[in-house]
Amino acid sequence: MNNKATPQHRNAGMSKEAVEVSLGDHLIYTSSKYHTDATTHDWFQITALTVRDRLVERWMETMQRYYEQDVKRTYYLSLEFLMGRTLGNAMLNLGMEEQCKAALYELGQELEVVAEVEADAALGNGGLGRLAACILDSMATLDLPCYGYGIRYEYGMFRQSIENGIQMEHPDNWLRYGNPWEFPRPELLYPVKFYGRVVEYRHENGLLHHHWVDTDDVMAMAYDTPVPGYGGKTVNNMRLWAAKSSRDFDLRYFNQGNYIQAVADKNESENLSKVLYPNDTTEMGRELRLKQQYFFVSASLQDMLFRYKKKHSNWVQLPDKVAVQLNDTHPSIAIAEMMRLMVDVHHQTWEEAWELTTRIFSYTNHTLMPEALETWPVAMLESVLPRHLQIIYEINHRFLQQVMHQFPGDGELLQRLSIIDESGGRRVRMSHLAIIGSHAVNGVAALHTELIKRTIFADFERVMPGKIINITNGVTPRRWLNQANPGLSRLITEYVGDVWLTDLDQLKRLREFADNEVFQQQFRAVKQANKARLAGMIRKQLGIEIDPSSIFDIQIKRIHEYKRQLLNMLHVITLYNRIRSGNHPDVMPRTVIIAGKAAPGYTMAKRIIRLVNDVAEVVNNDQLIDGKLKLVFMPNYDVSNAERIVPAADLSEQISTAGTEASGTGNMKLALNGALTICTLDGANVEMGDEVGTENLFMFGLSAAEVDLLRRQGYDPLSYYNGNGELKQALDMIATGYFCPDEPNRYQEISDALLKNGDHFMLLADYAAYIACQDKVNELYRDPKEWTRRAILNVAGMGKFSCDRTVREYAERVWHVAPIEPMASEST
Ligand SMILES: *Cc1c(COP(=O)(O)O)cnc(C)c1O
Repeated sequence: MNNKATPQHRNAGMSKEAVEVSLGDHLIYTSSKYHTDATTHDWFQITALTVRDRLVERWMETMQRYYEQDVKRTYYLSLEFLMGRTLGNAMLNLGMEEQCKAALYELGQELEVVAEVEADAALGNGGLGRLAACILDSMATLDLPCYGYGIRYEYGMFRQSIENGIQMEHPDNWLRYGNPWEFPRPELLYPVKFYGRVVEYRHENGLLHHHWVDTDDVMAMAYDTPVPGYGGKTVNNMRLWAAKSSRDFDLRYFNQGNYIQAVADKNESENLSKVLYPNDTTEMGRELRLKQQYFFVSASLQDMLFRYKKKHSNWVQLPDKVAVQLNDTHPSIAIAEMMRLMVDVHHQTWEEAWELTTRIFSYTNHTLMPEALETWPVAMLESVLPRHLQIIYEINHRFLQQVMHQFPGDGELLQRLSIIDESGGRRVRMSHLAIIGSHAVNGVAALHTELIKRTIFADFERVMPGKIINITNGVTPRRWLNQANPGLSRLITEYVGDVWLTDLDQLKRLREFADNEVFQQQFRAVKQANKARLAGMIRKQLGIEIDPSSIFDIQIKRIHEYKRQLLNMLHVITLYNRIRSGNHPDVMPRTVIIAGKAAPGYTMAKRIIRLVNDVAEVVNNDQLIDGKLKLVFMPNYDVSNAERIVPAADLSEQISTAGTEASGTGNMKLALNGALTICTLDGANVEMGDEVGTENLFMFGLSAAEVDLLRRQGYDPLSYYNGNGELKQALDMIATGYFCPDEPNRYQEISDALLKNGDHFMLLADYAAYIACQDKVNELYRDPKEWTRRAILNVAGMGKFSCDRTVREYAERVWHVAPIEPMASEST
């Protein structure tokens, strides 16, 4: 009775020949096409399914391993998973890229071409969603029993195009050609309730019970996607929920004979998982968003309790079997939902339920900006989730009682700590719920954690000292080095072996080659080839010629005022003016590349995109510049574009106002690929400086403490404007329409934001230091050996920023889970 999946089935062969047989089978039996009719999409589908076949048995074995050993599992709850493409990653993690390439070649296809048609799974906005994807990769690589839970949005992050310099948003219909990686589980359905009312009644045992009745129900249907770890031993599961209308709901109308209304309502409830909200960092408090949050949280908790119940008859061991990580506050309604399930549905006492809940949950904070902290109007919660509001009141009441005993007589402290913000329209502070209901809260970089302890969560640090810890973010070296940069990966492996793939600290062994001329030359050659490839893409896509020997100066990230793409533009305009003046023969040729999406409703960010494009138009077509400066805005920044841009960077721009970027992960990807970083003392930049040596970074500008001090002393941007001729010239050009003569006041609001409305992100205060630092970059680029030496030292120092290290810290300090490797007999 061996129903174990072992990698010996007919679809599991890893040889080129076996892969070729599978491709041929799928061509006929999946695509139903002749060789001659198959489109590139068909070939992608066929290749993906061939690779998927090899994943499935390992996946099933992994799930069985966890089940049989009844292990403690971590559930990573995230409203976003920015996965990107899967084929390349799956092939590399299974070690079957060469075979696939060769087998496709036999069939007259090129792997590179076939892989290019895969749509990105862009179920996230930026850093937060990409972190979730990196963490899944590390959890599988480390053989940790983990599940990702989220929403299967039908439309992910919008596709950005630029028309006449303006961002246009297009729907991302990523499922149009089908998604070969997902397994729909139509039998795996959970009801999720909304609205209705709560009835209380006294049970015969004397206890008060609560029933949530007259609800509108939506069904959550599971879609599973395998997540392979490196080496392919462990394949974890990402389970995403799609909304399906509930049958009950339909029947009400069918019985009244209103067929059309029933179908219309069905559509409406399925709208829940239709589209990802495209806002990065800011919240807008829309009801549909709250419903999305509760929808996936409720389904996920039902699913994990169902799994627990298969092995256990009571709840005592729940915290020994379940850890739940909340990726930001987006899933934090889970704390109230767990209490509801335990108290109302499974009839535990409040105290028992609270003990279980707080031992299970932990919360990751991703922002310092008070305006970005998520709150919901009490009235909205009362309407959408009436029972949860009651539970939140009770949690709050008990918590405040406890604080009152601890700190008697401090009424203001209670107000500040309360889950309910009573100042101006009552609102529920989700971060407070998340902190109170969790046993651990973490920031995502050392500086970020120190700052949240001192600012937004200072009161919590006082009443529950030690709960807030730091776990610095990381990125997966599999995707961000091995997959994105095969040239550099091969070179590194040649010198120090391939252990860096699972032990990134080994990169430090590159230090001994930093001065080695042969290694330097090879390192430069790889970078040069990557730059030439990007130049080719830019020529083909945008018709812009760039010089592959110029400095590739790259800023890629969401467009946001705090990330200061505008400061970058002030430097570009300054360089432009210097070159035009003819007084600066020492300016090295430079190509500034900017990419990123603006939230569709964020007008200032969209204006910044337009300015970049307007400046590019002028700079790139000015004969006096003679190709010494180019500015390129690359449209539609996503994971796949990041994989192409990152390996080609010489200079990485990480120039947020100190104290605003929680961690950043783009900074890590670029340095790992041999870019030098120009940065402020913000987020993880500080720790990057510690690791690679601050002498090997270009750091400039105000520290977080100095920003704070200057703001409190009264910051006057005009004094900087009046005191710096180059700055004044650049700003005047923006304000007077130098870059948009057809509409001279197009950038009035930008100028006003800086000069009249206080320059909140202090670009003017940092301008001089930034320009001086860029001058140092310019100087160093004259010396290719020294530049290369420092780039090598940067790569060598990036070991800490593997998210394997990040995940190990979560596993040991927060989740208390251990690796579960396959049995020796099974790891064929
Ligand atoms: C890494 C990444 C980000 C995060 O970049 P930051 O510079 O840390 O803001 C955003 N979007 C994509 C597509 C990424 O790959």
